[in-house]
Amino acid sequence: MNDNEEEPSKDNALAVNDILKNMGADLDHIEKVKRRYPMKTTRYYLSLIKEMGDPIWKQSIPDLDEIHDDFNVEDPLKEEEHTPVPYLVHKYPDRVLLLVSSKCAMYCRFCTRKRKVGRIQQIPMEDVFRAIGYIEEHPEVRDVVVSGGDPLMRTDQEIEEILKRLRAIPHLEIIRIGTRMPCVQPQRITVRLANIIKKYHPIFMNLHFNHPDEITPESSAALRILADAGISLGSQTVLLKGVNDDPVVMVDLMKRLVRNRVRPYYIYQCDLVKGVEHFRTPVETGIKIMKQIQGHTSGLCLPHFVIDGPGGKVPISPQYVKDITPDQIIVTNFLDNLYTYPGTDRSSKKQLYNKKVSRIGVAFNLKREAEKGERPDKYAEFDDLETINAIRITIENAGYETVLLEADQDFLVKVRDANVDFVFNIAEGIHGESRESHVPAILEMLNIPYSGSGVLTQAITLNKSRKKEILNYHGIPTPRFQLFRNNHQRLDPNLRFPLIVKPDAEGSSVGIFNDSLVEDLSSLKTQVNKVLRGYDQPALVEEYLDGREFTISLLGNNGSLRVLPMIEVDFDHLPEGLRRFDSYEAKWIYDNPDNVVDPLICPPDLKPKLKSALEKTAKRTFYTLGCVDFARIDIRLDSGGVPHVLDVNALPGLMPNPMHNSRFIRSCYTLGMTYDDIILSILHAALKRYNLSMNV
Ligand SMILES: *Cc1c(COP(=O)(O)O)cnc(C)c1O
Ligand code: SF4
Repeated sequence: MNDNEEEPSKDNALAVNDILKNMGADLDHIEKVKRRYPMKTTRYYLSLIKEMGDPIWKQSIPDLDEIHDDFNVEDPLKEEEHTPVPYLVHKYPDRVLLLVSSKCAMYCRFCTRKRKVGRIQQIPMEDVFRAIGYIEEHPEVRDVVVSGGDPLMRTDQEIEEILKRLRAIPHLEIIRIGTRMPCVQPQRITVRLANIIKKYHPIFMNLHFNHPDEITPESSAALRILADAGISLGSQTVLLKGVNDDPVVMVDLMKRLVRNRVRPYYIYQCDLVKGVEHFRTPVETGIKIMKQIQGHTSGLCLPHFVIDGPGGKVPISPQYVKDITPDQIIVTNFLDNLYTYPGTDRSSKKQLYNKKVSRIGVAFNLKREAEKGERPDKYAEFDDLETINAIRITIENAGYETVLLEADQDFLVKVRDANVDFVFNIAEGIHGESRESHVPAILEMLNIPYSGSGVLTQAITLNKSRKKEILNYHGIPTPRFQLFRNNHQRLDPNLRFPLIVKPDAEGSSVGIFNDSLVEDLSSLKTQVNKVLRGYDQPALVEEYLDGREFTISLLGNNGSLRVLPMIEVDFDHLPEGLRRFDSYEAKWIYDNPDNVVDPLICPPDLKPKLKSALEKTAKRTFYTLGCVDFARIDIRLDSGGVPHVLDVNALPGLMPNPMHNSRFIRSCYTLGMTYDDIILSILHAALKRYNLSMNV
């Protein structure tokens, strides 16, 4: 049996029979099995048997159980179905199995290709080349597993021809050779063979060892030749009952392989091949073995445990992940101790669920005097220190830590580094037509939850014409209008004087002055020009309604949205010469703490029908524009008493001093709320919206 090219001769067979008989084998049984599944072994492998039925015996000597297997089928992997050309299996996208030999030095009793090996003549080289032709024509194939049988049953010259043909294929990157030869006939591995193989690098060899007893001085010498030739060595092991289904045996095998520069690659669950049922182990055995390798010894000794089937190889792994919750993963280590590990996506709203908020940032823009050359009303919207401090103190008294965050150009860095769980936002924004949306946008980018309306709503509510377009679309009345982008535009003939001219994207009556109300084309032109130049933005021209004017504040969300006591703006106190609307003069010059006149009536005298029409319009507007937590809506009646939405403020002022007449605050005070109640209502509405738990 020293010539691996030949079938065992009669003499050799007799010699083997003698050896087996001496060890106590029943030769009749062996003969019976051999008729169905050929037998062949090597003198070397036979010499490794210590006693009848040991792991080496079991792998190589026929057993009666092989012909008493009523369960399994000949081709459980359905390889025939993935054979586009004889001797080639193409089952995975980028790699194929090329069968170059039908023979092996030894016929393993558990072989997956038991139906084939040893029964047919050696595969003709023309057929091998035809199969290689398939690879040449399939550029998606970048990896070939040269297998069989055992490819090293071919002569050195044939092996070289095959490798040369394969290496000439430009798209083929990896050549692997699957062989059991170093295990069953290590003498076949010669320096000459290694020198041939190494010409065609990168070459990987996947070897097949199943038991520590197979690692001998002879096989170690063979492995050294291959490793020294720079061939990457891996091993595949089949999990076999009575051979290696014991963690101690398997760990020993893995360690010995690594010492011989062979990296364990796969442990296969024994396939459901007819004739091998007696070798099968429960899948749990493999899992138990994997648990004994991971962590207990070098990661180098750790293969993948796989089940092969018609769908391909499936890795089976011990369960190290015990639970995955939104904010953490619970794992066990190799000693079965439990650990938690925080999730990576800690920032999404879902992950914040139930999180306790303890540190709150207050984002604001501090009011300052307009400098020389700046518009006098440039900072009209910004908040004073009194307001900012009042908010901060309220939040602190409720048990939170606070951080003041001025929303200037360093805001992103400041808020990112402030380590806050939440931001209470009153920042009006410093630049650009969508400036009120900037702080929300930055906070969303950083995944920090915040109070008040979001990016889109803040941007839309600051843009009067867009806001009116949306209201129109939804059938919510708003005065008819036209947008002037330049002063050459002609007035829409449908619009009726008097008209009001406003900057398109300002809040708090900014840019609306007493003479913004015009009665004729020439003053219209003047006012449009003033806005175009002075505010660097389009002018909104809107029909003036001459009915009563109301401001309606809303607080909360969804089912718990409250319409607060309304405010009627009383223009009767305005001095002679000032028109009856909310101009900058009316709002800021005459309405300051030094002025004793109170222009706001809260609550106003309203017939129930009007009250309910106003409430309905306000709520519909709030929802339609996507407002949350709090907002203020200005409504004016037309001559027929129909409420029309003039403006929406998604970031109404929160000045605590009642004399300052922050209209939102005024409505709350009328209801009997304290300033603390107001701020905490907004805060808690927002926390609830994010499913954040509050600290009270
Ligand atoms: C195992 C196998 C391969 C190689 O798969 P890898 O997971 O890359 O080792 C290729 N083709 C077939 C048919 C196979 O069974
Ligand atoms: S060497 Fe591989 S192909 Fe040959 S009999 Fe053993 S398991 Fe089957």
